[in-house]
Amino acid sequence: MESYGWLTDRQRSFFASGETKSLGYRIDALRRLKAGIQQRERQLINALKADLNKSEFEAYMTEIGIVLEEISFTLKHLRAWAKPRKVKTSVTHFGARGRIYSEPYGLALILAPWNYPFQLAAAPLIGAIAAGNCAVVKPSELTPRTSETIAEIIRTSFQEDYITVVQGGIKTSEALLREKFDYIFFTGSVPVGKIIMEAAAKHLTPVTLELGGKSPCIVHEDANLKLAARRIAWGKFMNAGQTCVAPDYIYVHQSVKESFLKELESAVKELYGERPLLNPEFTRIVGRKHFDRLKAFLSSGTLAFGGGTDPEKLTIEPTVLTDISWEDPVMQEEIFGPLLPVLEYGNLPEAIREIGNQPKPLALYLFTESQSVQEEMGERLSFGGGCINDTVYHITSPYLPFGGVGSSGMGAYHGQASFETFSHSKSVLKQTTRFDLPFRYPNRKNGLKIIKRFLK
Ligand code: NAD
Repeated sequence: MESYGWLTDRQRSFFASGETKSLGYRIDALRRLKAGIQQRERQLINALKADLNKSEFEAYMTEIGIVLEEISFTLKHLRAWAKPRKVKTSVTHFGARGRIYSEPYGLALILAPWNYPFQLAAAPLIGAIAAGNCAVVKPSELTPRTSETIAEIIRTSFQEDYITVVQGGIKTSEALLREKFDYIFFTGSVPVGKIIMEAAAKHLTPVTLELGGKSPCIVHEDANLKLAARRIAWGKFMNAGQTCVAPDYIYVHQSVKESFLKELESAVKELYGERPLLNPEFTRIVGRKHFDRLKAFLSSGTLAFGGGTDPEKLTIEPTVLTDISWEDPVMQEEIFGPLLPVLEYGNLPEAIREIGNQPKPLALYLFTESQSVQEEMGERLSFGGGCINDTVYHITSPYLPFGGVGSSGMGAYHGQASFETFSHSKSVLKQTTRFDLPFRYPNRKNGLKIIKRFLK
């Protein structure tokens, strides 16, 4: 049976040396990580091409560039984030000072999925380093070339007792989870998220769970349909729909359904050409199992356009399915592929009710020009995060924490939220010794009376 006790022992003793806590050490580590990535940019692009047929454009925009930018942003702000925060004290604490210190948890375990295999392993690591932790990263076994490149970047940038990559599948994950970590950051599916949380509970280790689900995309009757179609096609079909925050299904007002579908078809052609299966830049499905699962959904509803598949190359055309009901198989699980079912609604209360009946999604997208519709949807529906009049773009802002709620996950990261996720906020009250307020003591005359005056 695999065991990683030797690794956590080594990391724990390095963490105990206190080196990783110094701000200078963390800044230097982030710079080394950035340089390591930049030196292997070509290798990463080739690996992502080999693993998923990602185009260079997508590889840079959604994996390498976004991670480099996150490191730059963190380097720019880390000093300010890491400063102890002075807080007010109330009148009952007269003479005392309150401070909140951010301290690293210790050893962080980062478990990553295959769909953005580089970004989703590297982005949490930035937070772990910034906060001063040691880390073990386990990338996905389904994207071996990218995982190997990540391992190489880490191996050449850091000593093993500080940050290391462990490669392997479920057995390796299980072996790592048997060890005690001080924080677990998991990105992946809902069922595995539950396994992770159960394993973490054995050591009382706090977790962030970045999970998935069915993210709705609502197109209201007053939406700018042309723009909506292009932004939806972009967010849905990038990475062949294998994006946790991709619009999972369209929920369109019945009065604009036909015109919206026409716009959607031309947007797909504009982005991927007349015959996307022949487009050498179109990302493939990660493996046969997922390809077959997605193919089975093609019999749901009516094919509006697309539907072509290439079992040799494991590609599926951008596909839109209409006449879909909530009961269809394609509506029973996260699609995670280039298939887009379309449902219709007749009025806003119906749309809010139906979406509210579903598990809380990771993302929600709403296309409408109406301020009151935007406000009503925002107030009535719970979701991890989302966009008004766009898709997916919210996750690229380092100023917006990204994470799920309910079954789409817990915790958040990106920008300062990553630093905070990997830090414990340690509250310390520094008391004065110049005087001693008497009323707190039980033997004071009128003590209770005075306390009642303050504590009410
Ligand atoms: P997954 O849950 O199968 O695997 C994720 C990681 O967990 C991998 O490293 C894998 O080796 C490990 N793992 C798998 N089974 C395990 C088990 N039984 N015990 C312990 N570890 C195990 O997810 P995936 O298929 O790689 O990724 C797709 C899923 O991830 C989708 O549901 C998607 O929505 C979600 N996702 C979420 C986000 C987000 O940021 N919220 C981002 C990307 C993907």
